[in-house]
Amino acid sequence: MELREMQRIQVLDPRLANQIAAGEVVERPASVVKELVENAIDAGSTRIEVELEAGGARLIRVRDDGSGIAEDDLPLALSRHATSKIASLEDLEGVASLGFRGEALASISSVSRLELIANVDEDPCHGWRVVAEGRQMEPRVTPAPHPRGTSVTVRDLFFNTPARRKFLRTEKTEYGHVEEAFRRLALSRFDIAWVLRHNQKTVHQLPAGNDAPRRERRIAALLGRSFLDSALHLDLEVGSLRLWGWVGLPTHSRAQADQQYFFVNGRVVRDRLVAHAIRQAYRDVLFHGRHPVFVLYLEVDPLVVDVNVHPTKHEVRFRDGRMVHDFLFSSLHRALAEARPGERETPAT
Ligand code: ADP
Ligand code: MG
Repeated sequence: MELREMQRIQVLDPRLANQIAAGEVVERPASVVKELVENAIDAGSTRIEVELEAGGARLIRVRDDGSGIAEDDLPLALSRHATSKIASLEDLEGVASLGFRGEALASISSVSRLELIANVDEDPCHGWRVVAEGRQMEPRVTPAPHPRGTSVTVRDLFFNTPARRKFLRTEKTEYGHVEEAFRRLALSRFDIAWVLRHNQKTVHQLPAGNDAPRRERRIAALLGRSFLDSALHLDLEVGSLRLWGWVGLPTHSRAQADQQYFFVNGRVVRDRLVAHAIRQAYRDVLFHGRHPVFVLYLEVDPLVVDVNVHPTKHEVRFRDGRMVHDFLFSSLHRALAEARPGERETPAT
């Protein structure tokens, strides 16, 4: 074999660097929706609308009524490692916002045609618009009317990365992933009003409200009335840990573990320790191969949990995992044991 000629080291062109980084956070339309909605949540929005065309492959638009972005900051919002959320290592250690890496908009705009319109002002005539098409050009800022808040429109995802575009599945499959992402996000914040539209049709319209009836209405809208009717509501506090939410009785078990939502400080989390504690708690009441349905919220001091484990932030690391595990297990085990002892299990699906 011929020896390759020695290549000199060079710094990657920023667009290419962003496209490489995009591989980590932007897998499909659902990941774009997640990142844009997390930004809307971090901006203090009270109402978030998600609109899609063709499962999100043609268009994704997220509109919010949050803080908006100042005109001077607009080009920065699209650059890598630019964030308004942390400025120091201390900030990182106590981070409460969903984002903080300053990577999402840079990554998304490197693999799509992205338009962002924002307004920090109450006057709806004072908005600004910035467009980036695969980051070919320096972003240009022009005036555009918009109510206070931000709208981000992402068109033609992966139009300039054909290899990635090939990995997109059918419209139905991609839409399914988006709806699942939307469900998790809407379950994470009852105090925010949500709308999901697909191909001009309104799929979900969820009013805001932290009172029990409105919370339950949202649970029923997103997970089905039958889950709510067969779920235990719990709310327990031990020391600095609080666990609340709904756990399905064994009568409402499923063949797949596809309706399990666990939030740590408002962030949806997949964690082996948490999964293990819940499985153990259900072990005696569920047939082998059946999976419980639950929507659970764990609230802990942000200083005892590390969220900076992975770019998609699905994982967390607890400082005292043992204590969290025991708290989860004992809370659920007791709640399930107290609920209608002796009831026979009948599959719901
Ligand atoms: P991160 O969320 O990690 O800070 P992003 O690339 O997602 O990085 O966003 C970059 C910055 O753009 C954010 O820090 C924030 O200042 C601003 N931004 C993005 N989306 C919004 C939004 N919907 N409302 C207000 N500001 C936003
Ligand atoms: Mg973000």
